Amino acid sequence: MQIYNLFPGSFASNCYLLIANGHAAVVDPSANADTILAEVKKSGAVLDKILLTHGHFDHIFSLDELREKTNAPAYIHKDDADMPEDAHKNAFYTFFHSLRSYRRPEHLLQDKDELTLGDEKITVLHTPGHTKGSVCYLCGDSLLLTGDTLFYGNIGRCDLYGGNEGELRSSLHFLRTLPPELRIYPGHGESCSLGEALNSLYFYD
Ligand SMILES: [Zn+2]
Ligand SMILES: [Zn+2]
Repeated sequence: MQIYNLFPGSFASNCYLLIANGHAAVVDPSANADTILAEVKKSGAVLDKILLTHGHFDHIFSLDELREKTNAPAYIHKDDADMPEDAHKNAFYTFFHSLRSYRRPEHLLQDKDELTLGDEKITVLHTPGHTKGSVCYLCGDSLLLTGDTLFYGNIGRCDLYGGNEGELRSSLHFLRTLPPELRIYPGHGESCSLGEALNSLYFYD
């Protein structure tokens, strides 16, 4: 599986494109739709699905436009299902004091769900804390997309709707059980190994 970062997306979020055997998935459509579609076209792949790591506004910027232009369905964990449509829950209102909402994702995920992209497997790992339905996507056996759960040197904030520091702490304990050599691709900032990211949290143990 190949991965491309279409950074910068809106609000400095990473927007990833996964490609396997002519099939593409966008993870967190924070770049504008035309930019994403141009990259998909360049790759020669067909956009299969839109995966959301969680429901915050900065990760869903072009969610509706992308669905309108491609018919690719969106996936989100069931506990974040109502965030895109609610500007208070997805924090758009908190930051901009205006209302912006998106259509509900077509598919709701649970922990350990398995999706496919071409002939590769994507496993959903529920890692609540930043939001109730935050997930990491384990792609094949070497890539881990961590959303806003884990960055190099930091973790996601827990003070917005659905945030819970105790749950995030438990999620980090779970991530420590995964192979440290996994390459992580976070919602913000640079890629690194899972071990490097977890060791960078020396202040948080
Ligand atoms: Zn977030
Ligand atoms: Zn974010």
